[in-house]
Amino acid sequence: MPERTLFRGVRLVDPAGGQDAVTDVLIEDEQVQAVGPGLDPGRAEVLEGDGLVMAPGLVDLHAHLREPGYEHKETVETGSRAAAAGGYTAVCAMPNTDPVADNAAVVMEVRNLADKAGLCDVLPAGAITRELAGEALTDIGEMAEAGVRLFTDDHNCVQSSRVMRLALEYAKAFDVVVCQHAQDEALSEGWQMNEGHYSALLGLTGAPGAAETVIVARDLALARLTGGRLHVTHTSAADSVELLGAGKQRGLRVTADVTPHHLALLDEDLVSYDTFLKVNPPLRSAEDRDALRLGLGSGVLDAVATDHAPHAAEDKEQEFDQAPPGTIGLETALAVVLTELVDAGLLGLPDAIDRMSVRPARILGLEEHGGPLTPGRPANLVVFDPEAEWTAGERRWASMARNSAFDGRRLRGRVLHTMLRGTFTVRDGEPTR
Ligand SMILES: [Zn+2]
Repeated sequence: MPERTLFRGVRLVDPAGGQDAVTDVLIEDEQVQAVGPGLDPGRAEVLEGDGLVMAPGLVDLHAHLREPGYEHKETVETGSRAAAAGGYTAVCAMPNTDPVADNAAVVMEVRNLADKAGLCDVLPAGAITRELAGEALTDIGEMAEAGVRLFTDDHNCVQSSRVMRLALEYAKAFDVVVCQHAQDEALSEGWQMNEGHYSALLGLTGAPGAAETVIVARDLALARLTGGRLHVTHTSAADSVELLGAGKQRGLRVTADVTPHHLALLDEDLVSYDTFLKVNPPLRSAEDRDALRLGLGSGVLDAVATDHAPHAAEDKEQEFDQAPPGTIGLETALAVVLTELVDAGLLGLPDAIDRMSVRPARILGLEEHGGPLTPGRPANLVVFDPEAEWTAGERRWASMARNSAFDGRRLRGRVLHTMLRGTFTVRDGEPTR
């Protein structure tokens, strides 16, 4: 049942509505009914918002929900629950499942599983190429018809310039986005971490940031050639940020995201050989991290995306070179951004919400998400305590996995309530189902 709830005296941070003020917000019939000071609760339950922030529900451009095929790592239901626990109301699910989401049937299956779970809107991404093999294009038109807005071979990078060109041409024709995991295979063969001082010190094979940047440069040229919409995901290298900025200045239709872990962690953290810190693309240098932070602040990087990548415990309990890359991220993303960027004075809170909700919703064309939280709009929202401190991993994750790169770290900012169309999916910090 949708609730009837009055949040009294909450700080409403709603960039799309141009709001940042302490106010009352009344939720009724799945919608925001009224916003303003001193609202009459009527029959609504009253929740005191003292010191709390309300924002439009977060939107993730990049999450691996693993189903179908890898249900021992995560399912659409547990991934949706993790998303809700992290304040998300919409996530884009990556297509590297088994079978691959390279056709409308798998897309429908994922969406049906998400509807059944009812915890978060899940927008399945479609593969660019069949079986993610980088050769034959999928039926982008058929999947676009089925509602797919974003196409990616994520985990793989489309190596062929010809295939990428064709994908961007189709993307233009069907008004969808091509999302690239930018990584030149020849430059990154056998990689374990970022190439640099620490890869030499640790004796691990490195991949240079240039493995990403050469693909970003090529794809920008192809975006210009085709007029297709390009999205660069999990940007990790300083030079990539510079190219993206130049591309935007030229008016190219390009957007980009960055992960919380690339904004917060460094290649030098790998001196512990902690497999939870092995991610793809790898954690890079302080210079790269600083450029990513600046890029997010300036808006050259449009969004924070989690690259939530759950693994079974035994997957990560292997030697470093055998362990698969990836970190879970949905339940820590907001706190990492608040702790590392907002509290550090590098990003204002409204800009943080813009990058985690408003812009990703626009990239995906999700009109119900990203605010504005104004009367008559769907009540997709998060309420969090920006001051609450906690230690990542101290409580059970809602995700099936526990491979968090932030495991054991102190973070500030805790999600208390998440609402999807006026119904609590998380209440007082606990998923409602
Ligand atoms: Zn990727």
